[in-house]
Amino acid sequence: MRDFLSDKSEKNQLKKALYKYIHRKRRISKAELLKEFHVPNTTMTRMLAELTDRGLIRQAGFGHPTGGRPPVLYEIVSDAAYVIGIEIARTDVRVMLLNLNYEVIGNDRFSFMKQHTPQVTIEKINDMIRALMERYQIPSLLGIGIGAVGPIDRENGVILNPESFPAEGWRDVPIGEILHKRFSVPVILNNGANTAAVAEYYARNDHEENILYCISGYGIRCGYIQEGRLFNQKQGDATSYEHIVVEAEGRDCTCGSKGCLKTYVSFGAMLNRLDSLGIPSTIDDLLNSKESSVREIIMESAHYYGIGIANMIHILHPDTVILHGKLIYHDSEYYQEVVQSVNKHICARNHPITIRKGVLGEKATSIGAAIQVFEHFFE
Ligand SMILES: [Zn+2]
Repeated sequence: MRDFLSDKSEKNQLKKALYKYIHRKRRISKAELLKEFHVPNTTMTRMLAELTDRGLIRQAGFGHPTGGRPPVLYEIVSDAAYVIGIEIARTDVRVMLLNLNYEVIGNDRFSFMKQHTPQVTIEKINDMIRALMERYQIPSLLGIGIGAVGPIDRENGVILNPESFPAEGWRDVPIGEILHKRFSVPVILNNGANTAAVAEYYARNDHEENILYCISGYGIRCGYIQEGRLFNQKQGDATSYEHIVVEAEGRDCTCGSKGCLKTYVSFGAMLNRLDSLGIPSTIDDLLNSKESSVREIIMESAHYYGIGIANMIHILHPDTVILHGKLIYHDSEYYQEVVQSVNKHICARNHPITIRKGVLGEKATSIGAAIQVFEHFFE
């Protein structure tokens, strides 16, 4: 599989494009492929036979007959190879094993704590990958994808200096190179917000959307997909969105500016506010408390979050905005207030926007990280 995907010869390009098209369509007949690829019937027959012989595609039953015999359908062999997706977030580290249809075969996680320095974390990730491979009897991997809190150096696979990690030492960590040496496979590092956006994009399988994916919680991070392509910032720093101004001359932000989105919406902002009102609280209180003073501040966060998202919509013009975060999933009042606030603050000229919660929940980042590895072979 890796030989086929890594073969950049011109001769192989058409076969790779054919394979990718079958992958995207899930099941497809030769007649439909001929319509897409404009090659002679004999060439198509030969290429399909070759991909079948190599164990990359197989026949998958019959489609609806259009006149004569029902057509043979082709699909990719989903267990021809496997990819690993890793999420490194502020609270959790997840490792997942996926097949080529992006189905999760196995997964494992641990809570990210004070003892998890880069060395300890990478060792744990290493062991989890080996354990998954052993459990599911996977002899080798196709690649490893990582979705991490930014900023990162995407090109060199380095986690630079993420804010508020629980453990010491997370500065310029070349995690890509380390895992590449251990497993001898391509390792692709990206921002977790981006990989989550990728996962949600493929989960719907309509492949047409412009998606803005917004994570809220400790910070506000966004990933953006336009016509199927990720909008990648140089430093993979998805947190710059949290500094868009939602209140001129508003609250002081750590960045030196005033009125940034983060200072109204993040967990830290809400806790600071409660603290200043003499109501010291925890994140648990934010998620569970029914106290009116706490609820008021949560609703204020939702209101400002909606303003921030509306601003982003005016710039990026997504068709769909996907919201992800603990309050989004667990507090329907919060979610509804965010949606209302977005709708109140986008100008009427904007085309109708779908706002929804992520369908993959907590798994999105690691699934997307794995998808990215497979997709990169076709770039
Ligand atoms: Zn700021």
